[in-house]
Amino acid sequence: MHEYSLMDSVLEHVTEKLGDSITAPIRTLRMRIGALEIHSRPSFEQAFEARSKGTVLEGATLELEIIPAKIVCGSCGHQSPIGAGEADVHDPEPMVECPKCGKACPVEGGYGVGPIEVDVDD
Ligand SMILES: [Zn+2]
Repeated sequence: MHEYSLMDSVLEHVTEKLGDSITAPIRTLRMRIGALEIHSRPSFEQAFEARSKGTVLEGATLELEIIPAKIVCGSCGHQSPIGAGEADVHDPEPMVECPKCGKACPVEGGYGVGPIEVDVDD
């Protein structure tokens, strides 16, 4: 599943960065993620729970900030942000219906993984 492979690379990145220097439990994992990278917040949280088991991140709280994508309508000029789950993430060029005029609009932004930070319990 998309969520799981994405989560695996996030966890890999974090554990690689922390290396062996970490002894105390990690309290919080904070990260930003593009709205089009994931299906929904709950599905990503679920992936975190499943994949962090047995790692230094087990039991940590995931603080997820979703970077919104937006649509800019070519017909009426309407712009609006869209969140996770509002566009088809499997589509390389997702289109969303304009809420104003109903025309299909290309989605802009909403990709990428932002800075990943951890808080350590000490
Ligand atoms: Zn429109």
